[in-house]
This record gives sequence, C-alpha cells and structure tokens, in this order.
Amino acid sequence: MTQTAKVTETDVLVIGGGTGGYSTALRAAALGLRVVLVERDKVGGTCLHRGCVPSKAMLHAAELVDGIAEARERWGVKATLESVDWPALVATRDDIVDRNHRGVTGHLAHAGVEVVRGSAELTSPRGARIAGYGEVTARRGIVLATGSRPRTLPGLVADGRRVVTSDDALFAAGLPESVLVLGGGAIGVEYASLHRSMGARVTLVEAADRLVPLEDADVSRHLTRGLKKRGIDVRTGARLLEAAVLDDGVRAAVRTPRGETRTVRAQRLLVAVGRVPVTDGLGLAAAGLGTDERGHVVPADWDRLETSVPGIHVVGDLLPPPSLGLAHASFAEGLLVAETLAGLRPAPVDYAAVPRVTYSAPQTASVGLSEAGARDAGHDVVVGTMPLTAVAKGMVHGQGGMVKVVAERNGRVLGVHLVGPHVSEMIAESQLIVGWDAEPSDVARHVHPHPTLSEAVGEAFLTLAGRGLHQRA
Ligand code: FAD
Repeated sequence: MTQTAKVTETDVLVIGGGTGGYSTALRAAALGLRVVLVERDKVGGTCLHRGCVPSKAMLHAAELVDGIAEARERWGVKATLESVDWPALVATRDDIVDRNHRGVTGHLAHAGVEVVRGSAELTSPRGARIAGYGEVTARRGIVLATGSRPRTLPGLVADGRRVVTSDDALFAAGLPESVLVLGGGAIGVEYASLHRSMGARVTLVEAADRLVPLEDADVSRHLTRGLKKRGIDVRTGARLLEAAVLDDGVRAAVRTPRGETRTVRAQRLLVAVGRVPVTDGLGLAAAGLGTDERGHVVPADWDRLETSVPGIHVVGDLLPPPSLGLAHASFAEGLLVAETLAGLRPAPVDYAAVPRVTYSAPQTASVGLSEAGARDAGHDVVVGTMPLTAVAKGMVHGQGGMVKVVAERNGRVLGVHLVGPHVSEMIAESQLIVGWDAEPSDVARHVHPHPTLSEAVGEAFLTLAGRGLHQRA
C-alpha cells in the first residue's frame, strides 16, 4: 500500500478492506466516485487471509488425501499415502492467498481507490481520524465494513497453541494428532473434516441437538452420518463444562445429553462457536451510532443498508441476520451500497436466495427455506427428495448424499438442500430457481446432462412435477 499525498476529503470513505469493504470501494470507484479505503491489516480481510481461501485450499488437499484411500479401497488402484509434506502444502496455500491478495491490491489501484493503511475512528457522522494519517471527511457517505473475529467462551483463553480459533488453527507448524472441535456450524464442521482427512482423531461437540442447526434437519442428518462414517466422533446436544490446558494438550469435561460427564483428551481444542462483530475503537458513539446486544450495527433501512445516521452504511459481518456472515453476501452488500451512494436505485439484497455451503466431506449446500422453516412461515409444503446414489454418477462417487426440494403445493420452489460430493458447485442452478420464483414444472422442462450428479437435482424436480423417471412420485 503506497501512501502518496494525503486526501482530506473524498466522496466515499470505506472503513475495513475485507470482502465487504473492498467490493464497495471497487464498485463506487467504477461509478466515478472518489474513494478512500482504510485497512489496518491487509486488504482481503478475513476471507482471503484467515477464512474462505486458505481453508478451502487446505480442504482441497484433504480431498486429495481422501482420494488415495478411495483409489485403493474401491478402485483397485494400488496407491498408498507416503506422507503429507506440510511445508509444501502450506507453500501452495500461501501462494494462492498471495496471488489473490496481489490481485485485489491491483484492482483497487487500477480503479483509483486510495488505500490507506491504518486504524480509522469515526469523529462525526461525516468523518473519521485515521491513525498515522489524519482526518478524512466524506461528502457522500461512510461505509462501515470492519467485519468480525472469532468468539470464544467465558474462561476459555485461546493461546494459539493448545486452545486455538480459526485464526490460528491452520497456521501452526502442522496439524495435531487429535483435536476436540467445539462448535458444529460450518467452520467447526469444515475444520473437523480437514483434520480427520489429515489423519487426526477428531471429536466434534455441538450444543444444539444437531450439526449445522440452521440448515434443514435432513441436511444435518446426512452430514452427521457422513462424518461419523469417516470416523469423526460427533457429539450433539453436548456442552463443554470445562477445559484444562496441559503440557501435551487439553483435557475437557463434556456434558452429554443424558446428563453424564465425559472426559475428552486431545492435543488441541479448536473453538468454533461463532463470530462477533469488530467495532472496538471505531468511534460509533461519535457518529451517533450504537450496536445491538450482539454487537452488530443494525441498518435502519435494509433496502439501502443505511444506518439511522443518514450517509453511514454498513456491509458484511457487522450486519445482523438476515445477512449471513458470508463473503458472497458481503460482495452483494458492497455493490448495493456503492450503487446507492452513486445515486442509483439498486434492488435490495435477496437474502433468501443467497446460497450457504459447508465445504466438508461430505459437503452441504442449500438455498432458501428448510422444510420446517417453510412450514413455520405458513406455507402448504410439498417435498421431493432424491438420493445421489440413485443416479449413475452418484454411484461412481459412492459417497451417499441427497437432494431435497421444498416447494409450495402447486406453487414455487421455496428451498433446495444438497448433501454429498461437489454439491458446492451444484447449488448455483438452485439459487436461480429459488431467486426467480420458479415452480417445479418450470425446472422439470430443462434437461440435465447424463451422467452427472446434477441429474439428481433434475430428477427431484421431475418427481415433484409428477414426471419422475427413475423414481416414482
Ligand atoms: P472482514 O473480512 O473481517 O474484513 C474487515 C476488515 O476490516 C479487516 O481486514 C480488518 O483488519 C479491518 N478493520 C477492522 N476495524 C478497522 C478499523 N477501525 N480501521 C481500519 N480497518 C479495520 N464465507 C464464505 O462466503 N465462504 C466461505 O467458505 C467462508 N469460509 C470461512 C472460513 C473461516 C475459517 C472464516 C473465519 C470465515 C469464513 N467465511 C466464509 C466468512 C467470511 O470470511 C466473512 O463473511 C467475510 O470475510 C466478511 O467480510 P467483511 O468485509 O465483513 O469483514
């Protein structure tokens, strides 16, 4: 980040250079606005440096490791895993992150965004002080994009060695031989899956009665079955009572749903119990703003993502639900806010049509309402399901999985839920189906390629439309 002549006034001041902030900055600059983007660490934020990108790079390596066992056990390919060269794996991961980082930095420079390295603190509804730089005021608006950090539990101090969060779990000298993962949301499940693929003994503890509790219950069921089949000790409805840090690991007391106390020993405790918005030092009060009880900055106008202070907008992980704490949601929010500040009238973000993915083995991918969610919302619901193993390509993969479609009786599709291999790449058509209010018969008209996993999606819709080919309605 080069700092040239200081800018004291700009059209748009973006605080935070993660996916939410940099997407706002790029779009605003493309629309002809002068933009200052303040970032105290590295542009790209959590997703690029500590989240989506490095974790998915390593999950790809994990898939390769799993593939060796499958090759040997299912396909007669006489392959054995010699070892994982950790420095080589890390070098590839870091190269992917570095290239992305250079890409984002280059895009910002090319767009003419003034990137300022420093910590910004609001001083008024129109301006902020940037440490080591000075005051900047914004004529059109300020965009808060300061993101989130891992939550921990009271009394549980993440020391980065024995007790870790997603910020440091993948950045140590190697993975542990055993890990206790606390939290069965997307991050906890992905990290449990990754550690297991790399040979660790994994215990996954979730306080709710099922993994990924915000997803459809059938997704949780299939996911849990898949993880258990891979040897992960999944304990739902279980609570961590206490954890002692020892020289060689941690000893945790876990309360089971039956009220018994079990001791779990592991080399590492990975805490993945959610994230909290980052607003410390941001000076919200000076601008006339506060947070809700969970620390989020709540928009007064969700259609424009504008706070109660006119001209101050908010994007990304700072937002409460229905925003999703996902990078691709923050991209959409960034575009929306930039276009709003440029005087356009963009359509609000359709959160119901934003896909949600867990990149574990098996993967889960969903969009729209769960079956229970649809019933709770008062819909007269019909459901179509299709096991992935009912289509030829699903048999080739041999990893189970399913498609579940939730629709209104004689009406539109409300939700699509997938579990299995590569479903992260298969959800895209379903987001259009849900986003465009399609009905099962609209989808059933369209032919899916054979043999593919996506055929199972096509078949589920054919069945719902009363035209099932390989399964009866
Ligand atoms: P951030 O990316 O957190 O960026 C905020 C930035 O603001 C930071 O760079 C910070 O340094 C800066 N900042 C904070 N305060 C100040 C200040 N006062 N002044 C200047 N700068 C400041 N999402 C997905 O969609 N797909 C995934 O696969 C996925 N995987 C994930 C895996 C993990 C392990 C984690 C932790 C998250 C994952 N996410 C994923 C979520 C995704 O990373 C976040 O939703 C996204 O990064 C939020 O972007 P943001 O711009 O709101 O915040």
